[in-house]
Amino acid sequence: MELASPCYIWGRMQVETALFFETVEEIYARVFRTLKPRTALPRVSVRFRKYANANSRVSLVNGNLTVDISDLLQSAPAPIQEALALILLSKLFRRVPEQSAVARYRRYLHQAHIRQMLQSAKQARGRKTIRPPQGEVYDLCKMFEDLNLRYFGGSMPQPQLGWSSKGSRTTLGHYDPSHHVIVLTRLLDSPKATDLVVRYVLFHEMLHLKFPAEYREGRRCVHTREFKDAEKNFEHFGEAKRELRRFVESVSS
Ligand SMILES: [Zn+2]
Repeated sequence: MELASPCYIWGRMQVETALFFETVEEIYARVFRTLKPRTALPRVSVRFRKYANANSRVSLVNGNLTVDISDLLQSAPAPIQEALALILLSKLFRRVPEQSAVARYRRYLHQAHIRQMLQSAKQARGRKTIRPPQGEVYDLCKMFEDLNLRYFGGSMPQPQLGWSSKGSRTTLGHYDPSHHVIVLTRLLDSPKATDLVVRYVLFHEMLHLKFPAEYREGRRCVHTREFKDAEKNFEHFGEAKRELRRFVESVSS
């Protein structure tokens, strides 16, 4: 852990004077430099998005650092933006964030007027785009429990599960870490898709929960070596892949 290195402390001290003259992008660039002093500074873009909650995320791809922050935090003061930057970038580099930053950020969110603002945004915006996990043919909750017991020793906490409202042919499933939800395309909730195929797609998404994306030399790697090795443990792996290919062909023609 390099959190207590002199360089880091120096970076923190700089905050006090620079605070009110920095844009949010500049805050991220400065925190980045503090955490990764020897890595070339990426291009930073910060977008305030209409999320239903205070979730935020950051990604680093090909030298572009993209930060998506809930627009509910747009009016948060600079020390809060800085605390969030420390939390998100620490997460990106798989480090434990500085506890004072975590505490500062939490205190901000726990204020009554902020809580109220988050609550009303949640009600107004909500997640209306996914359908319940009990589909017409397959029940994702049952399937999740099954796979969890068989492959994860029952240890995986259940995320939100659901079917997509639009039947995507290209995205069969995805795990959205910011909402902690696994969504499978509605097209799979059909007799055309075999039980094996649906289980395989769900298993693949569960592995995304177990193996978060890794960052190697600034590149995001989603299907890591560990991920791929674990995926091969799926019973009838080869058959499942072949059936999946057939299924994709049948829905695209
Ligand atoms: Zn994947």
